[in-house]
Amino acid sequence: MRGTRKAGLALTAVAALTLAACSGGEPGTSDDEPAGGDSATEGGGSGEGLTIGIKFDQPGLGLQEGSEYTGFDVDVAKYVAEKLGYAEEDIEFVESVSSQRETLLENGSVDMIFATYSITDERKERVAFAGPYFVAGQDLLVATDNSDITGPDTLDGKVLCSVEGSTSAERIRDEHSEGVELYPAQTYSECVELLSAGTVDAVTTDDVILAGYAAQDEYEGQFKVVGNPFSEENYGVGLPQDNDVCEDVNAAITEMIDDGTWEELIAKNVGDNFSWNEELNPPEPQPCA
Ligand code: GLU
Repeated sequence: MRGTRKAGLALTAVAALTLAACSGGEPGTSDDEPAGGDSATEGGGSGEGLTIGIKFDQPGLGLQEGSEYTGFDVDVAKYVAEKLGYAEEDIEFVESVSSQRETLLENGSVDMIFATYSITDERKERVAFAGPYFVAGQDLLVATDNSDITGPDTLDGKVLCSVEGSTSAERIRDEHSEGVELYPAQTYSECVELLSAGTVDAVTTDDVILAGYAAQDEYEGQFKVVGNPFSEENYGVGLPQDNDVCEDVNAAITEMIDDGTWEELIAKNVGDNFSWNEELNPPEPQPCA
Protein backbone atom coordinates (compact mmCIF):
# COMPACT_ATOMS: atom_id res chain seq x y z
CA MET A 1 0.00 0.00 0.00
CA ARG A 2 3.01 2.21 0.46
CA GLY A 3 2.96 3.54 -3.09
CA THR A 4 -0.40 5.16 -2.51
CA ARG A 5 0.79 7.08 0.52
CA LYS A 6 2.81 10.22 0.34
CA ALA A 7 3.11 11.45 3.88
CA GLY A 8 5.36 9.05 5.77
CA LEU A 9 4.38 5.65 7.03
CA ALA A 10 4.88 5.96 10.75
CA LEU A 11 3.06 9.17 11.50
CA THR A 12 1.75 9.19 15.01
CA ALA A 13 -1.89 10.08 15.49
CA VAL A 14 -0.92 13.53 16.69
CA ALA A 15 1.48 14.08 13.84
CA ALA A 16 -1.11 12.90 11.35
CA LEU A 17 -3.71 15.24 12.73
CA THR A 18 -1.25 18.12 12.91
CA LEU A 19 -0.21 17.47 9.37
CA ALA A 20 -3.81 17.33 8.27
CA ALA A 21 -4.63 20.50 10.16
CA CYS A 22 -1.54 22.35 8.91
CA SER A 23 -1.70 21.21 5.33
CA GLY A 24 -5.22 22.43 4.83
CA GLY A 25 -5.92 19.23 2.95
CA GLU A 26 -3.02 19.62 0.54
CA PRO A 27 -1.55 16.21 -0.15
CA GLY A 28 2.01 15.29 0.71
CA THR A 29 3.16 18.49 2.33
CA SER A 30 5.45 16.82 4.84
CA ASP A 31 8.32 14.37 4.54
CA ASP A 32 8.73 14.16 8.29
CA GLU A 33 9.42 10.68 9.53
CA PRO A 34 9.31 10.46 13.32
CA ALA A 35 12.09 8.65 15.19
CA GLY A 36 11.66 4.92 14.97
CA GLY A 37 11.00 5.01 11.26
CA ASP A 38 8.49 2.65 9.77
CA SER A 39 9.62 -0.63 11.25
CA ALA A 40 6.10 -1.35 12.43
CA THR A 41 4.99 -1.39 8.85
CA GLU A 42 7.65 -3.72 7.50
CA GLY A 43 7.62 -7.45 6.92
CA GLY A 44 4.93 -10.05 6.40
CA GLY A 45 1.94 -9.83 4.11
CA SER A 46 2.89 -8.29 0.82
CA GLY A 47 6.09 -7.00 2.39
CA GLU A 48 4.68 -3.59 3.23
CA GLY A 49 2.61 -2.17 6.03
CA LEU A 50 -0.94 -0.99 6.14
CA THR A 51 -1.96 2.19 7.94
CA ILE A 52 -5.54 2.08 9.15
CA GLY A 53 -7.55 4.96 10.56
CA ILE A 54 -9.82 4.12 13.48
CA LYS A 55 -11.44 5.94 16.39
CA PHE A 56 -9.43 5.83 19.61
CA ASP A 57 -12.20 6.73 22.07
CA GLN A 58 -15.32 4.76 21.11
CA PRO A 59 -15.78 1.72 23.40
CA GLY A 60 -16.92 -1.40 21.55
CA LEU A 61 -15.99 0.11 18.17
CA GLY A 62 -12.53 1.65 18.17
CA LEU A 63 -10.75 2.08 21.47
CA GLN A 64 -7.09 2.61 22.31
CA GLU A 65 -5.91 1.41 25.72
CA GLY A 66 -2.12 1.72 25.92
CA SER A 67 -0.84 -0.19 22.93
CA GLU A 68 -4.04 -2.23 22.64
CA TYR A 69 -6.78 -1.50 20.14
CA THR A 70 -10.19 -3.07 20.56
CA GLY A 71 -13.67 -2.88 19.11
CA PHE A 72 -15.77 -4.02 16.18
CA ASP A 73 -14.15 -1.62 13.71
CA VAL A 74 -10.70 -2.81 14.82
CA ASP A 75 -11.64 -6.48 14.47
CA VAL A 76 -13.23 -5.93 11.05
CA ALA A 77 -10.12 -4.02 9.98
CA LYS A 78 -7.86 -6.88 11.12
CA TYR A 79 -10.01 -9.45 9.30
CA VAL A 80 -9.99 -7.45 6.06
CA ALA A 81 -6.26 -6.72 6.36
CA GLU A 82 -5.52 -10.42 6.74
CA LYS A 83 -7.53 -11.22 3.61
CA LEU A 84 -5.51 -8.55 1.79
CA GLY A 85 -2.29 -10.28 2.87
CA TYR A 86 -1.28 -8.27 5.94
CA ALA A 87 -0.39 -9.83 9.27
CA GLU A 88 -1.56 -8.10 12.44
CA GLU A 89 1.93 -6.73 13.10
CA ASP A 90 1.92 -5.06 9.67
CA ILE A 91 -0.95 -2.81 10.72
CA GLU A 92 -0.41 0.64 12.14
CA PHE A 93 -3.53 2.16 13.70
CA VAL A 94 -3.87 5.94 13.48
CA GLU A 95 -6.56 8.03 15.15
CA SER A 96 -9.05 9.42 12.65
CA VAL A 97 -11.49 11.80 14.29
CA SER A 98 -14.67 12.46 12.34
CA SER A 99 -13.71 15.84 10.90
CA GLN A 100 -10.32 14.60 9.62
CA ARG A 101 -11.29 11.40 7.83
CA GLU A 102 -11.52 12.70 4.26
CA THR A 103 -8.31 14.72 4.66
CA LEU A 104 -6.35 11.78 6.08
CA LEU A 105 -7.33 9.67 3.06
CA GLU A 106 -6.67 12.47 0.60
CA ASN A 107 -3.21 13.33 1.91
CA GLY A 108 -2.10 9.72 2.17
CA SER A 109 -1.74 9.62 5.96
CA VAL A 110 -3.86 6.45 6.06
CA ASP A 111 -4.52 3.67 3.56
CA MET A 112 -8.03 2.95 4.75
CA ILE A 113 -10.46 3.94 7.49
CA PHE A 114 -12.70 1.80 9.68
CA ALA A 115 -14.19 4.42 11.99
CA THR A 116 -17.99 4.34 12.24
CA TYR A 117 -17.72 6.08 8.87
CA SER A 118 -21.06 6.51 7.11
CA ILE A 119 -21.16 6.22 3.34
CA THR A 120 -22.62 9.46 1.94
CA ASP A 121 -22.77 11.04 -1.51
CA GLU A 122 -21.10 14.18 -0.19
CA ARG A 123 -18.13 12.23 1.15
CA LYS A 124 -17.92 10.25 -2.10
CA GLU A 125 -16.91 13.49 -3.81
CA ARG A 126 -13.60 13.26 -1.90
CA VAL A 127 -13.10 9.59 -0.99
CA ALA A 128 -14.25 6.09 -1.99
CA PHE A 129 -15.98 3.48 0.12
CA ALA A 130 -16.08 -0.29 0.29
CA GLY A 131 -18.87 -1.91 2.29
CA PRO A 132 -21.11 -1.25 4.11
CA TYR A 133 -20.28 -3.75 6.86
CA PHE A 134 -22.76 -2.42 9.47
CA VAL A 135 -25.89 -0.28 9.64
CA ALA A 136 -26.53 1.93 12.68
CA GLY A 137 -29.06 4.70 13.32
CA GLN A 138 -28.71 8.19 14.79
CA ASP A 139 -30.09 8.38 18.32
CA LEU A 140 -29.80 10.38 21.54
CA LEU A 141 -27.99 9.77 24.83
CA VAL A 142 -29.51 11.46 27.87
CA ALA A 143 -29.33 11.28 31.66
CA THR A 144 -31.12 8.22 33.01
CA ASP A 145 -33.72 10.35 34.78
CA ASN A 146 -34.46 12.51 31.72
CA SER A 147 -38.04 11.95 30.57
CA ASP A 148 -38.61 14.90 28.24
CA ILE A 149 -36.21 13.96 25.44
CA THR A 150 -37.76 11.03 23.61
CA GLY A 151 -36.72 11.65 20.02
CA PRO A 152 -35.67 14.28 17.48
CA ASP A 153 -38.96 16.16 17.80
CA THR A 154 -38.51 16.81 21.50
CA LEU A 155 -35.34 18.88 21.35
CA ASP A 156 -36.77 22.37 21.45
CA GLY A 157 -34.73 24.57 23.79
CA LYS A 158 -32.17 21.81 24.42
CA VAL A 159 -28.40 21.91 24.14
CA LEU A 160 -27.07 18.99 22.12
CA CYS A 161 -23.48 17.87 21.74
CA SER A 162 -22.24 16.19 18.59
CA VAL A 163 -19.02 15.99 16.64
CA GLU A 164 -17.82 18.26 13.86
CA GLY A 165 -17.65 16.54 10.50
CA SER A 166 -20.19 13.86 11.44
CA THR A 167 -23.47 13.10 9.74
CA SER A 168 -24.99 13.39 13.22
CA ALA A 169 -24.13 17.10 13.62
CA GLU A 170 -25.05 17.79 10.01
CA ARG A 171 -28.50 16.22 10.39
CA ILE A 172 -29.24 18.32 13.48
CA ARG A 173 -28.14 21.46 11.62
CA ASP A 174 -30.12 20.55 8.47
CA GLU A 175 -33.28 19.03 9.86
CA HIS A 176 -33.69 19.84 13.54
CA SER A 177 -31.99 23.16 14.00
CA GLU A 178 -35.00 25.15 15.10
CA GLY A 179 -34.78 25.81 18.81
CA VAL A 180 -31.84 23.44 19.25
CA GLU A 181 -28.43 24.63 20.31
CA LEU A 182 -25.67 22.46 18.88
CA TYR A 183 -22.41 22.18 20.80
CA PRO A 184 -19.79 20.96 18.30
CA ALA A 185 -17.01 18.85 19.84
CA GLN A 186 -14.00 17.05 18.35
CA THR A 187 -14.86 13.63 19.81
CA TYR A 188 -17.87 11.86 21.28
CA SER A 189 -16.01 11.17 24.52
CA GLU A 190 -15.79 14.94 24.97
CA CYS A 191 -19.56 15.16 24.45
CA VAL A 192 -20.18 12.41 26.99
CA GLU A 193 -18.10 14.25 29.59
CA LEU A 194 -20.19 17.36 28.97
CA LEU A 195 -23.36 15.33 29.41
CA SER A 196 -22.04 13.86 32.64
CA ALA A 197 -21.27 17.38 33.92
CA GLY A 198 -24.76 18.57 32.96
CA THR A 199 -23.38 21.13 30.49
CA VAL A 200 -25.44 19.67 27.64
CA ASP A 201 -28.86 17.99 27.67
CA ALA A 202 -28.06 15.20 25.21
CA VAL A 203 -25.42 13.71 22.96
CA THR A 204 -26.42 12.68 19.49
CA THR A 205 -24.76 10.20 17.16
CA ASP A 206 -25.20 6.59 16.12
CA ASP A 207 -27.00 4.31 18.57
CA VAL A 208 -24.22 1.72 18.63
CA ILE A 209 -21.69 4.40 19.64
CA LEU A 210 -23.93 5.81 22.37
CA ALA A 211 -24.62 2.33 23.79
CA GLY A 212 -20.87 1.83 24.22
CA TYR A 213 -20.54 4.95 26.37
CA ALA A 214 -23.66 4.19 28.42
CA ALA A 215 -22.16 0.81 29.32
CA GLN A 216 -18.82 2.16 30.55
CA ASP A 217 -18.06 1.47 34.21
CA GLU A 218 -17.20 5.11 34.92
CA TYR A 219 -20.69 6.19 33.83
CA GLU A 220 -22.60 3.27 35.35
CA GLY A 221 -26.30 4.07 35.73
CA GLN A 222 -25.87 7.67 34.52
CA PHE A 223 -27.11 7.54 30.93
CA LYS A 224 -29.66 5.89 28.67
CA VAL A 225 -29.94 5.66 24.90
CA VAL A 226 -33.38 6.99 23.93
CA GLY A 227 -33.88 4.13 21.44
CA ASN A 228 -35.74 6.03 18.75
CA PRO A 229 -33.30 5.98 15.80
CA PHE A 230 -33.90 8.59 13.10
CA SER A 231 -31.46 7.72 10.31
CA GLU A 232 -29.69 4.85 8.60
CA GLU A 233 -25.91 5.04 8.87
CA ASN A 234 -24.15 2.62 6.55
CA TYR A 235 -20.63 2.08 7.86
CA GLY A 236 -18.18 1.85 4.98
CA VAL A 237 -14.46 1.33 4.66
CA GLY A 238 -13.05 4.70 3.64
CA LEU A 239 -10.50 4.49 0.81
CA PRO A 240 -8.65 7.01 -1.32
CA GLN A 241 -10.52 7.74 -4.52
CA ASP A 242 -7.79 6.28 -6.72
CA ASN A 243 -7.54 2.95 -4.89
CA ASP A 244 -7.31 -0.51 -6.42
CA VAL A 245 -8.48 -2.46 -3.37
CA CYS A 246 -12.19 -1.69 -3.12
CA GLU A 247 -13.27 -4.97 -4.78
CA ASP A 248 -10.94 -6.98 -2.57
CA VAL A 249 -12.21 -5.26 0.57
CA ASN A 250 -15.78 -5.99 -0.48
CA ALA A 251 -14.88 -9.64 -1.12
CA ALA A 252 -13.35 -9.84 2.37
CA ILE A 253 -16.46 -8.30 3.96
CA THR A 254 -18.70 -10.75 2.12
CA GLU A 255 -16.54 -13.64 3.28
CA MET A 256 -16.58 -12.33 6.86
CA ILE A 257 -20.37 -12.32 6.81
CA ASP A 258 -20.68 -15.70 5.09
CA ASP A 259 -18.22 -17.54 7.32
CA GLY A 260 -19.94 -16.41 10.53
CA THR A 261 -17.16 -14.06 11.68
CA TRP A 262 -19.32 -10.93 11.35
CA GLU A 263 -21.86 -12.31 13.83
CA GLU A 264 -19.12 -13.40 16.21
CA LEU A 265 -17.36 -10.01 16.12
CA ILE A 266 -20.46 -7.86 16.54
CA ALA A 267 -21.72 -10.02 19.41
CA LYS A 268 -18.34 -10.00 21.13
CA ASN A 269 -17.84 -6.24 20.88
CA VAL A 270 -21.26 -4.68 21.39
CA GLY A 271 -23.67 -7.56 22.06
CA ASP A 272 -23.79 -7.08 25.83
CA ASN A 273 -25.13 -3.52 25.59
CA PHE A 274 -26.78 -3.15 22.21
CA SER A 275 -29.30 -4.86 19.93
CA TRP A 276 -28.45 -4.09 16.34
CA ASN A 277 -31.18 -3.80 13.73
CA GLU A 278 -31.49 -7.33 12.40
CA GLU A 279 -33.53 -6.25 9.39
CA LEU A 280 -30.66 -4.09 8.17
CA ASN A 281 -27.75 -6.21 9.39
CA PRO A 282 -25.54 -7.66 8.20
CA PRO A 283 -25.75 -5.49 5.09
CA GLU A 284 -24.62 -6.43 1.61
CA PRO A 285 -21.58 -4.56 0.30
CA GLN A 286 -22.42 -2.16 -2.54
CA PRO A 287 -20.57 -2.42 -5.83
CA CYS A 288 -17.43 -0.28 -5.99
CA ALA A 289 -17.94 2.74 -8.21
N1 GLU B 1 -21.58 7.51 11.37
C1 GLU B 1 -21.59 8.92 11.49
C2 GLU B 1 -20.55 9.59 10.61
O1 GLU B 1 -19.85 8.94 9.92
C3 GLU B 1 -21.44 9.40 12.92
C4 GLU B 1 -20.33 8.73 13.68
C5 GLU B 1 -18.97 9.35 13.49
O2 GLU B 1 -18.85 10.59 13.50
O3 GLU B 1 -18.02 8.58 13.38
O4 GLU B 1 -20.41 10.76 10.59
